[in-house]
Amino acid sequence: MAYRAPRPHAVKHSALQNRLSRIAGGALFVLVMVVFAGIAERAIPPQHAPWKPLRLIDPVGAATRIKAARAGEDPAACRAILRRAGLEFSEVESRVPAPGCVIEDAITLDSGLAPMTPSKPVMTCKEALAVSLWERQVVQPAAYALLGEGVARIEHYGSYSCRRIYSAREGAMSQHATADALDVGAFRLTDGSTVSVLKDWNDPGPKGQFLRRVRDEACKVFGTVLSPDYNAAHNNHLHLDMAPYSLCS
Ligand SMILES: [Zn+2]
Repeated sequence: MAYRAPRPHAVKHSALQNRLSRIAGGALFVLVMVVFAGIAERAIPPQHAPWKPLRLIDPVGAATRIKAARAGEDPAACRAILRRAGLEFSEVESRVPAPGCVIEDAITLDSGLAPMTPSKPVMTCKEALAVSLWERQVVQPAAYALLGEGVARIEHYGSYSCRRIYSAREGAMSQHATADALDVGAFRLTDGSTVSVLKDWNDPGPKGQFLRRVRDEACKVFGTVLSPDYNAAHNNHLHLDMAPYSLCS
């Protein structure tokens, strides 16, 4: 049979149909995305939703670390989160104590958390925010759950220290050189007893379980977490810092 070309008006009709179906398809896609976004907004808890603002009343979750790092980069946002959580703090004047060591955007936490020994270590707002979140959502709940007591005091080996990593003569500067780290050595409980990283890390009982849990959960908050599991240099403390890369051991 000889070929018969389609009639001109039939071709026109088909092109219009194609265009309409493309528009309808696009509108349906947008509608589905809007509905999905609405469901996600309601269904996903804030600690797992990177687009929701960081709050210290939310437990730690999949998005906590990224949100803490992001909030910490913005001095005003960092302080607003602390204030909203009822924490009081004082500003620390920026200075360059030595080449390679800078204290900038730093504060001391004055009240609203378990006090520290030595008192009021100087930390960047970013580090102070992470420490506050960890204390409220990890340390205290773990202490009540595993030890039946709250934490009354956190003992530490310092935050700011102008030095290189491992106090070496050469190499990269430590996060401590910018007050972006805290070395936690022990927890004094409300009954007066102490849980020490040095003495209790390998304890199979509640004290050891508490220490390992606060280390594990710290990894969801801080950039780098080092414990006695990492090396002998950390056998008596948990190193908690806000370095942009991630290391948890
Ligand atoms: Zn350290």
